[in-house]
Amino acid sequence: MQDNIEAVLALMRYIYDHIMYAELNTKSDYCQVCGFDGEIQVVEEDGKLVWECPHCHNRDQAKMNVARRTCGYIGTQYWNQGRTEEIKDRVLHL
Ligand SMILES: [Zn+2]
Repeated sequence: MQDNIEAVLALMRYIYDHIMYAELNTKSDYCQVCGFDGEIQVVEEDGKLVWECPHCHNRDQAKMNVARRTCGYIGTQYWNQGRTEEIKDRVLHL
């Protein structure tokens, strides 16, 4: 969608005209190691879920910024394994 501004605007217009309360959540994570700007991935490491830059494979949480909507708010802290699993299982609709 980030490369299809026309579709984003059409979606926002539809929301305004028909729903009135909806939003678009974007993945604007940032890897401080390589400068990647996009979606940091959740991967499994020895039975534990960890965050990983898809570009340079950095897994150091102190060297990345991740934001996700949880419980109605955008959070930038790291979450427990249960919430991380729920985030990993989310379905992208658009
Ligand atoms: Zn990276």
